[in-house]
Amino acid sequence: MLKIDTILCRPGTMNNYAYLLTDQTSGISAVVDPSEPEPVICRCRELNITPAYILNTHHHFDHTDGNLELKKYFKAQIAGHAKDARRIPGIDILLNDGDTFALGDSQARIISVDGHTIGHILWYFAKDKALFTGDMLFNLCIGGLFEGTISQMWESICKINALPDDTLFYPGHEYTRHSAREALLFSNHSPEVTAYLEHARARLEQGLPAGPYTLGEEKKCNPYLSAGNEAEFARRLGC
Ligand code: ZN
Ligand code: FE
Repeated sequence: MLKIDTILCRPGTMNNYAYLLTDQTSGISAVVDPSEPEPVICRCRELNITPAYILNTHHHFDHTDGNLELKKYFKAQIAGHAKDARRIPGIDILLNDGDTFALGDSQARIISVDGHTIGHILWYFAKDKALFTGDMLFNLCIGGLFEGTISQMWESICKINALPDDTLFYPGHEYTRHSAREALLFSNHSPEVTAYLEHARARLEQGLPAGPYTLGEEKKCNPYLSAGNEAEFARRLGC
């Protein structure tokens, strides 16, 4: 069983989420995408956890700026896509699409999703029904197309659409509020999107992350996941 603790980084500006994962059988922990070191060290101290690994989704600074300091502080090893060998600071473990990564008894599968960057990966813990999506997938939105093509991004979206509906996903930023208008527009104010946003608003008002939501909910409400085909996806991207 995987325990997941959410850590807000760069609050009020970029609103990144780092995630502290602990495999409860072995007690082995990892941090996903440490945007900055301080809030991660604080939470680890509170919980008396020493992460053994840092797991990166992609090379952007707002996901890796904590890498070097945390690596030194916790003597942690850093894992990311082999394509980011020269771009992820301090990387030790090079992974490829389809590889498995063992965090104690918890197993992650690496899913390559080019588009936002080339070398972006998802960390998919199938047994724990947890998916860490970095800047590939946000609530009701997706990451900007910085390095890949529309076709590559659509292919990546199809990989997400193929995962089980009961998977909970954990995005790299809190962008729910910003994505609300677009999602309402594309869905014609569907009851599903309205309910999604009600739930998000109640959570955010309490100072909690909007999610996690299931991929089932996301496939219905996220205008990019629900595009249906590449041409429609491209059209929606252009809007
Ligand atoms: Zn990014
Ligand atoms: Fe980011």
